[in-house]
Amino acid sequence: MKPFAELLQQTDFSDADLLRLLKTSDPLECQALYAEAFKRTTQVHGNVIYFRGLIEISNICTYDCRYCGIRKGNLAARRYTLSIDEILEAARYALKAGYGSVALQSGERDDPKFIDFIEEVCAAIHDMSVREFGIAEGCGMTLSFGEQSLETYERWAAAAGNRNALRYLLRIETSNQKLFSHLHSGQGRAQKTYAARLQALSDLRSTGYQVGTGVMIGIPGQSEEDLVRDILTFKELDVDMLGMGPYLVSQGGAMVEEGMMHKDALLRLTRNMLSTTRLALPTVNIAATTALETLESGARTLGVLSGCNVMMPNVTPQRTRASYQLYDNKQGTESDPDSNVQLEAELIANTGRAIGRHLFGSSVHFRSRQKTKKTKAADARP
Ligand code: SAH
Repeated sequence: MKPFAELLQQTDFSDADLLRLLKTSDPLECQALYAEAFKRTTQVHGNVIYFRGLIEISNICTYDCRYCGIRKGNLAARRYTLSIDEILEAARYALKAGYGSVALQSGERDDPKFIDFIEEVCAAIHDMSVREFGIAEGCGMTLSFGEQSLETYERWAAAAGNRNALRYLLRIETSNQKLFSHLHSGQGRAQKTYAARLQALSDLRSTGYQVGTGVMIGIPGQSEEDLVRDILTFKELDVDMLGMGPYLVSQGGAMVEEGMMHKDALLRLTRNMLSTTRLALPTVNIAATTALETLESGARTLGVLSGCNVMMPNVTPQRTRASYQLYDNKQGTESDPDSNVQLEAELIANTGRAIGRHLFGSSVHFRSRQKTKKTKAADARP
């Protein structure tokens, strides 16, 4: 077998290579893997972490994903929807802090009232970022509202205004189709198909969004081979961004009795997955997630030390934070918005990275795809 150090120097990896990277539990190998991922992140993306202010707009959901604490079937969840004013205030906080973009997320609805509301929200934030903050093109916007029609994606894109900093996050959750069906196996509308998920990602791409996907790591029934296939799927989908975090059990979910991985093993597997993915997809943006921070306090900075280059500090108003409980003990539900200042300080102290203020923060992957497109279009001209 090749020495581990030699493996780390490769730029192309076989499935067996990826599996070996992902599986290692040797502390020295793990440290070498994380250090290599951090180094390559610096080489490709520089020393900057992009920040997105995360606004959790509503926890009303019409689906029943078994892992999720805000699924429709969780009758204990107190449902809320923020007002436009509350959303604007949260966005204002993020833009004042110099985060060049906001990320808007909620439970999944596709009724006309909701579609109109999100359209109005996108337009209002865009307008505010131009008028109040003098951002000529408008701030960056990342939307995360689940599977929608092509027409809806187009309406929201138009409302968000800045097509150069328009993103959408829709995780595949797992590329193991049997497991995907099991996770989304409720009756009727609760059911989701992997095929529909891929169609949605393709629709997002054709609408012009920078496309982000991702998976949960350590889902009961998921194997390390599944995680390798996840990485290959990210490549096939040619995604621009990734969000991946540990699967954490949720009392409001429908899989409590299936348990979850032990904390230390889960933290290691998550870091291994982040770093292995970074080596395989050097140019994409990878987020250090709230789920990782929930698993262990301070672990978000460990995510950065494993190859992540994006963070999404929560800027949702205090009054509703505790109700957006995707999983148990979600980090940040108690803390006041200024805890983000502390997060920034920790990040700088522990990783040596800087915060990319007033930047849209599109991935190198997206920017080089744009360039290729432009060159091709120029070549096509007579
Ligand atoms: N309804 C939207 C956005 C909210 S859920 C959507 O589904 O896209 C956002 C992400 O939270 C999901 O993609 C899932 O990967 C993650 N998530 C949900 N429940 C979780 C849990 N129990 N543990 C870890 N991550 C979870």
